Amino acid sequence: MLSLFSTDRLSALTEKVRQFLEEEIYPIEKKLLQLPGKEAEILLNEKRKTAKKTGAWNLYLRPEQGGPGLSLPEIAQLGELLGTTPYGHYLFNCQAPDAGNIELLQEYTSGSLRAQFLQPLIEGNIRSCFAMTEPEYAGSNPILMATTAIRDGEDYLINGHKWFTTGADGAAFAIVMCLTDPEHPNPYERASMILVPTNTPGFRIIRNIPVMGHAGEGWASHSEIKLEQVRVPATNILGQPGQGFRLAQERLGPGRIHHCMRWIGIAERCFDMMCRRAVSREIASGQVLGHKQMVQQWIAESRAEIDSARYMVLHTAHEMETHGQKQAREAISAIKFLASGMLQRVVDRSLQTHGALGMTDDCLVSFYYREERAARIYDGSDETHKAALAKRILRQYGLK
Ligand SMILES: Cc1cc2nc3c(=O)[nH]c(=O)nc-3n(C[C@H](O)[C@H](O)[C@H](O)COP(=O)(O)OP(=O)(O)OC[C@H]3O[C@@H](n4cnc5c(N)ncnc54)[C@H](O)[C@@H]3O)c2cc1C
Repeated sequence: MLSLFSTDRLSALTEKVRQFLEEEIYPIEKKLLQLPGKEAEILLNEKRKTAKKTGAWNLYLRPEQGGPGLSLPEIAQLGELLGTTPYGHYLFNCQAPDAGNIELLQEYTSGSLRAQFLQPLIEGNIRSCFAMTEPEYAGSNPILMATTAIRDGEDYLINGHKWFTTGADGAAFAIVMCLTDPEHPNPYERASMILVPTNTPGFRIIRNIPVMGHAGEGWASHSEIKLEQVRVPATNILGQPGQGFRLAQERLGPGRIHHCMRWIGIAERCFDMMCRRAVSREIASGQVLGHKQMVQQWIAESRAEIDSARYMVLHTAHEMETHGQKQAREAISAIKFLASGMLQRVVDRSLQTHGALGMTDDCLVSFYYREERAARIYDGSDETHKAALAKRILRQYGLK
């Protein structure tokens, strides 16, 4: 791995995490992938006890919050290493959406909500989810939604329909985006985030949506949810009424760095598998796949694309940390589609190099091929990021 912002503490932590993954996780990945989701979660929860001792638990948090206190570029580099296994981020309690939800609760809750939900989330004793997207509305335009939270005395009454709520199955609470002021003249001030315990009457998971033929369970689920007359105290709101989109923006910036670095880790893993296959698969007498120029081209292009994505993401992380998220907006949009596009190409080349084996559940590449197609859709589709970036650039040339 090429590193840009290397520090002694990062090297020490990286070594510990690498050793843990090599000794305890890579060898059981195949078994984990074949187990039903909830059984895999039990085994993973055992491994999380060891992960906690490495010092990288809650990778994104400051020491007073229960994390190692790394800079964003340092976090990004460890995030890449965690991405080399499908379980890395979960093992260290920094998987989406819990990591983002921890950040939100840290900033925007107080009193009993912190004791009841934030602390157990930091300790890894509960999970959470984030419910914004609705089946009836284009998720690409976040102001479009129908879920409402109507003030009723000291409570909010919530009604709505959500889907693709990652990790809802087994989560202790959801942060639900809902309209609290549907008529507000500024559409970006109509919605709020409200913490809803999943055992509140009226909160119902309809199904775990099968994605590409596989219905995930537990932390790997994507659920469809109905909220019918769900009553929660008005104090469960995060921040002020109408701040939902502002909070969502704050949550998404660092989240994109985390996703991009995880994708780079996945690409490295698939690249490694592609190279191993290229030198071991005999294609003719005395010749292996790696002797073929087309395979060599895939390898050379993949190496260049992974490294350039990494530099760009680390540069963006550095910009965000130094100058703030607003200053880094163009770079954040650029890395989102740059890294997700790179990921798809590298995983695809790796699968192709493995031939039929690459299509099977015996081969990790097929898992990534299926699982990570979504990278071009969530956290803002590639197209919305491209449009946003191009518009910002063209405005500097006078585009109205
Ligand atoms: C695996 C996975 C996990 C997810 N997890 C969560 C979660 O935890 N919580 C949550 O709330 N949501 C989640 N989502 C939902 C995700 O945020 C939405 O899918 C995303 O915002 C896109 O919305 P949509 O699916 O409604 O697509 P649409 O908005 O209907 O867009 C469809 C396609 O149209 C194109 N398009 C859209 N807008 C433009 C434009 N302006 N210019 C050009 N082309 C455009 C894009 O190609 C896009 O893919 C998840 C989705 C997936 C796949």
